[in-house]
Amino acid sequence: MLSEAYSALLPEITATNGPFWQGCAQGELRLQVCDACGTFRFPDAPVCPRCLHDSFTWKKTSGTGRLWSWIRIHQRYLAAYADEIPYVVAFVQLSEGPFLITHLVDGPPDSWLDQPVRAVFEPDAAGRSVLKFAVDELQEQR
Ligand SMILES: [Zn+2]
Repeated sequence: MLSEAYSALLPEITATNGPFWQGCAQGELRLQVCDACGTFRFPDAPVCPRCLHDSFTWKKTSGTGRLWSWIRIHQRYLAAYADEIPYVVAFVQLSEGPFLITHLVDGPPDSWLDQPVRAVFEPDAAGRSVLKFAVDELQEQR
């Protein structure tokens, strides 16, 4: 379970980002999809970064992606992450297109770039589900 200090760094849940966090609570990675051009976007935004249209729909994604880069942190840069050391910060491209910076759990032991990853959700001290990623062993075998 993630510490209270870790939870304090999470963004406030608002009407705008609420559907994302509701998805996390249900074990789903949900993103906004532009109603005009179909572009998935992360983080949430009031307009599409591709076509500037302001109409969108929240949709469940596959929760899968590819590892673009990662770094294992051994130093205590943030007190909130002290209990997590060592931890892996990863740059992931979702199968739907958007990139995000996240934490990779249990890895990467023998990781190579472009390794398949999948969304996992870890509870924090307040019972909120936090999005992280893990190496997708099933997808890796395909
Ligand atoms: Zn668009």
